Amino acid sequence: MSIDIRCNCYAIISKADKRAEIWRNVVGDDLRVPLKHPIPVNMNGPNGIMSFYEGDPSKLTKDQWTTLSLEMNKKFGVPLQLVIDDLKKGILPIKAENCTVFWCEHHSRLAL
Ligand SMILES: [Zn+2]
Repeated sequence: MSIDIRCNCYAIISKADKRAEIWRNVVGDDLRVPLKHPIPVNMNGPNGIMSFYEGDPSKLTKDQWTTLSLEMNKKFGVPLQLVIDDLKKGILPIKAENCTVFWCEHHSRLAL
């Protein structure tokens, strides 16, 4: 018996969230952002502890990377190359607020 260990977890950004417009242009109307795993991680930022999911850039196409970098540049003034460099390193933090996370079969099986 083979075990499928590919992760297909994803987060759906709420349509009411201001990031929805960005993600609609990147992944389409269903606003599904691929994740590495469904566990939120906490980071200590300028406004205190914030919770994030780890998005998986390797599950986005190169065209989606380009769109995402253009959107981030337009909305937040982040340099295009900085976004691409982070994506190459596998860095794609998704603020957990206003997200609904769907667990893939693999991660559901591991949950006790
Ligand atoms: Zn998963």
